[in-house]
Amino acid sequence: MGAYSGTVTASGVGSILDVKRFAIHDGPGVRTTVFLKGCPLRCAWCHNPESQETRPELLFWSERCIACGACVSACPNGAISVTASGAMPETDRARCTACGACVAACVPRARTMAGTKRTVGDLLAEIDRDVLFYDQSRGGVTLSGGEPLAQPGFAADLLRECRLRRVHTAVDTCGFADEEALVAVAEHTDLFLYDVKLLDDEKHRQWTGASNATILDNLRWLSSEGKRLWIRYPLIPGVNDSTRDLEDLGRFVARLPEVEALQVLPYHASGARKFVHLGRRYALPDVVPPGPEAILNAAAAIRAAASLPVTIGG
Ligand code: SF4
Ligand code: SF4
Repeated sequence: MGAYSGTVTASGVGSILDVKRFAIHDGPGVRTTVFLKGCPLRCAWCHNPESQETRPELLFWSERCIACGACVSACPNGAISVTASGAMPETDRARCTACGACVAACVPRARTMAGTKRTVGDLLAEIDRDVLFYDQSRGGVTLSGGEPLAQPGFAADLLRECRLRRVHTAVDTCGFADEEALVAVAEHTDLFLYDVKLLDDEKHRQWTGASNATILDNLRWLSSEGKRLWIRYPLIPGVNDSTRDLEDLGRFVARLPEVEALQVLPYHASGARKFVHLGRRYALPDVVPPGPEAILNAAAAIRAAASLPVTIGG
């Protein structure tokens, strides 16, 4: 797979998963985090799989379903069926157009829709409500996802408007984007929270679906441009926690001219259920979150090779 090519054309409308106010783990201070929908990678451990597709997606929460059948008749595409009396409905996702009719019909909220279209102006109105908190905490706005660089025109527009309001801007990215997209967004970004998942390209392809060559090139370019960078390493047992993986990361970071912080983000399984709600298979059902000792040892191995302070958690 080559570098994902987003559209840099300025766009006032974006595909948005969520907006989180008063976030404290997405950059400095108190922040509003805007989660954009759509990502070119397919990380096996993804915590937000409902953010991977740009289009809206239906989630089904079986634990809330009372098998009332209201969704069956609500669906204009005949995508929902019940095979036995009193059974929970089944959805043929190939026929689902994410119209939302079944969501509206489902009183217990067993059906929800991930993703909506929002304008830059609409988001700014929400952001403006918290300017006081940004000022007092030296916080700001973070674009996360999904992958903000997958909607570069929209992301650049929103970041530019934040900057005009003197609001600090951060972008949480996987770095898999073409040069045009990266340059367009970087122009309006004060800080990058940059995910590095694996230095071994073959393993990177295996676990994320893409090469890491463009990701590492983009990181080198941002660093050479003197951009503020916090590197984030998701620590996934059995995937990227070997001594070699950790030392490779440390040595790579040590060669970058500008890195402000290195954060280890220990694996947790919060995304596993969401894969099920989306009707998808979770690829890491047997992975157990790392314990405190494993996390500390990993941080120490990276620190020794990188000669940089390493913190745990975002
Ligand atoms: S409308 Fe909701 S609660 Fe009723 S059967 Fe459909 S999913 Fe279940
Ligand atoms: S979102 Fe629309 S098309 Fe999809 S299952 Fe529900 S009613 Fe049918």
